[in-house]
Amino acid sequence: MSNPLLRRHEAHAQAGVALDYLCSHCGWEGEAAAMGQGTSVRTAQLGDDGEEAALSAQGMAISEAKDHIGLAPCPACKKRQPGAWIRVLTPRLAVLLIAVGAGFAAGAFFADKADSPGFILLFGAIALGLSATRALAVLRLIRGQGSLSFKPGA
Ligand SMILES: [Zn+2]
Repeated sequence: MSNPLLRRHEAHAQAGVALDYLCSHCGWEGEAAAMGQGTSVRTAQLGDDGEEAALSAQGMAISEAKDHIGLAPCPACKKRQPGAWIRVLTPRLAVLLIAVGAGFAAGAFFADKADSPGFILLFGAIALGLSATRALAVLRLIRGQGSLSFKPGA
């Protein structure tokens, strides 16, 4: 039976962000706009009507839109800004690796306690499953599905 005091909230959000863009190769200056998506699942306490999940999804959508802009090649010279991939992908991949690593570590702990190696696979699979939306977000960034647009500055 599920606990009626704890409810699972899932929220999806889309956000559009516009930022100043200055190309360090050719000096093109203007505004870059992009859309991002976010998904968040939270187990909410009584009294939380999903607001926390919605806020978190919104935050993820905004940060994804910003990352699309960070990875965007300059509209004039088509070059990416130096360090773009490292700046954008390193924190996201770090979060993924920590989450999946923690899952496998927890699995190894329980496998040791219960003397059953199946726990390693079980916890690893759970961690991978929980990280799937983050992994998909990284894939979306790499594939550049960000509906980017540029507007020359004044
Ligand atoms: Zn440029």
